[in-house]
Amino acid sequence: MSASPEPSQIPAPERVRNLAIVAHINAGKTTLCERILVATGRQRYFGEVDSGTAAMDWLREEQERGISIEAAVTHVAWREHRLQLVDTPGHVDFGSEVERSLRVVDGAIVVIDAVRGVESQTEAVWRRLDALAIPRLIFVNKLDRSTANLAKAMASIHERLTASAVLLDIPIRDSSEVGFHCADLLDADLRSSARATAADPASLAQARLLERLGEVDDHVLAAYVEERSVSVAEIRAAIRRVTCARSFVPVLCGSALRDVGVRRMLDAVVHYLPGTAQHPLADRSSLGSARGDQRPVLGALVFAEGPQEDGGGDTVLVRVFTGALAVGDCVESQRSEPHRLVALYDVHADQLTPIDRCGPGSILALRTDPPIRLGDTLREPGSDLVLESPAFAAPVLARSLEPDRSENRALVEQATRRLAAADPTLTVLVDEATGDLLIAGMGELHLDVFRDRLERRLGNVFAMGPLRVLRRLVPRQAAASRVRVERILGSVHDDDTATLGNAGATAEVAIEPAPDRGLNLRWAVPPSETATLERFAPEIRREILEEIESLVRRGAGGDAYADLVVEVRHVEAEPSLPAAVPLIQEAVGQALREAMDGSQPRREAPCVVVTVELPHDSVRPVLADLRSRAAEIVEIGGDSERARILARVPLAEVLGWTTQLRSRTKGQGVHTMIPAGWVAEA
Ligand code: GDP
Ligand code: MG
Repeated sequence: MSASPEPSQIPAPERVRNLAIVAHINAGKTTLCERILVATGRQRYFGEVDSGTAAMDWLREEQERGISIEAAVTHVAWREHRLQLVDTPGHVDFGSEVERSLRVVDGAIVVIDAVRGVESQTEAVWRRLDALAIPRLIFVNKLDRSTANLAKAMASIHERLTASAVLLDIPIRDSSEVGFHCADLLDADLRSSARATAADPASLAQARLLERLGEVDDHVLAAYVEERSVSVAEIRAAIRRVTCARSFVPVLCGSALRDVGVRRMLDAVVHYLPGTAQHPLADRSSLGSARGDQRPVLGALVFAEGPQEDGGGDTVLVRVFTGALAVGDCVESQRSEPHRLVALYDVHADQLTPIDRCGPGSILALRTDPPIRLGDTLREPGSDLVLESPAFAAPVLARSLEPDRSENRALVEQATRRLAAADPTLTVLVDEATGDLLIAGMGELHLDVFRDRLERRLGNVFAMGPLRVLRRLVPRQAAASRVRVERILGSVHDDDTATLGNAGATAEVAIEPAPDRGLNLRWAVPPSETATLERFAPEIRREILEEIESLVRRGAGGDAYADLVVEVRHVEAEPSLPAAVPLIQEAVGQALREAMDGSQPRREAPCVVVTVELPHDSVRPVLADLRSRAAEIVEIGGDSERARILARVPLAEVLGWTTQLRSRTKGQGVHTMIPAGWVAEA
């Protein structure tokens, strides 16, 4: 079934393209992926999203809801290149998955719906691609639809994404069943006749392409100045240079559903997007052959959960930036823990094919013993490499979990914790006032999907309460606290006698504000002070840091601590370990809370940017409504048919807003929300 390269063959980095396909939901990402699978011979049948047969949407939730939720990975072969596709989830509730998938790719295809133009989530992802310096191509999709409007779509691209987007082909209407084909603007015939038919749309578009290239590429400019003609190969090379340098974004046209333009887009990926060695994280030449041998130091990032093995084992998806992996190798995580590589797999959606090794640039699934965590760096033992793991956005919405009978509480809690452990954006909280179990996530849909998963595991033994918005606590100033806890510990002996003894632990924790940096943990206990703990030091350190991470996420009454550095400065316990570990944790926890109080934290509420598209005659009532919700109106725009309002609003103000919006726009208004930071509460 596969025409892709032998999995164990390691292709040269310049022949590999790691790609994310990103877009607003419904633009056609999954359809495009399916088309690519068929066009490259990876799959014989075209799976359709609408009938739930798409190979990349393999999770049940995705097939039921018809949208992509988790990152899926596959690879295909095209013109002697290996294209590794990461199909990212489209919904913003899954923003952290999107973020992580973007970090591991070298280039991106951005899909735009030719009917709707640029939509809010595309714009949000585009900004992330900018921040990560990832070169990209645009595919304008759905040009088969009668309401498609390329000129308008291009105008929205120029206005909302980038002025550097330039068409490489244009749709030409014809009498075929689909109604159009794409004319290649680099086509030689067209180029030679360009001057003759200057009024022809293809010639105009071509002139614009060459002019734009001349503006950003010195070679093309020089050719013009010298009145030398440039060959197609030279133009291709120029487009590749400026695309990789991100001063140019090639735009291709087509219809994924009707299979128009897909092969040309694959060609463009091979021609214009960078290979794997150009990724910023692949440049670790300074670490190079640190140990004197020629093998580059290992650097790999665990970026998502992978498919399950046949035997039910859990895998993770990993991108190798430098170095190589082989089954049986011992690698280290950034917590300096050793992990043995038990199995490596080539991934195609949910199918795993065992391989024994892989090289730099690879994206693969693997299982380690002990298991490794999402966001971790894999490195060689003794290295201090950390491929900065993305700071996860904090959960903003929570719902209580109510077991039908009290006997089921433990069951529900256990299953919830297991699901949350696999998803760093789900947090389990306990309401301090009521004792309720709460699950917190990134949005309504995120929590709905969680509920479906829990229900599938447990059946109908719980209900969920209404949505509540979570806030966060951000320290204003540095603070530290030293806490000592003492207990009388009793122990019962074999002969039923009991003895009592004093036990105690002391801990010092310091906090510092770290704006926009999430959570940063530091172990700063001088080695001399841990001498008494020595035999247990690595485990104790891990347990303490994990406890802090969990305390910071739980925060105070559900309001997580954020944007801070936590430093453990002193730990001491007597009389004996490991019995004193719970006491140490208690001391650390109390010191953390005191330090947090001492930092005079500010309470902040989550905000969203709402984009509303609506008829012009509804603008006035909707603006009034938004203002009554403490919205800050960012922009009012649109075109002759529809108006568009962008506003920044506290999330709590727009929960369940859909119903009101419908009534104020007579059912004509639609809106999307994307997370937009935090605002201090009065
Ligand atoms: P995703 O959310 O970006 O993954 O989008 P999907 O691939 O799930 O597609 C969303 C909807 O658009 C589905 O109903 C597709 O059948 C439809 N669609 C995708 N591509 C095209 C296209 O080129 N033309 C038309 N007419 N419909 C398309
Ligand atoms: Mg999809």
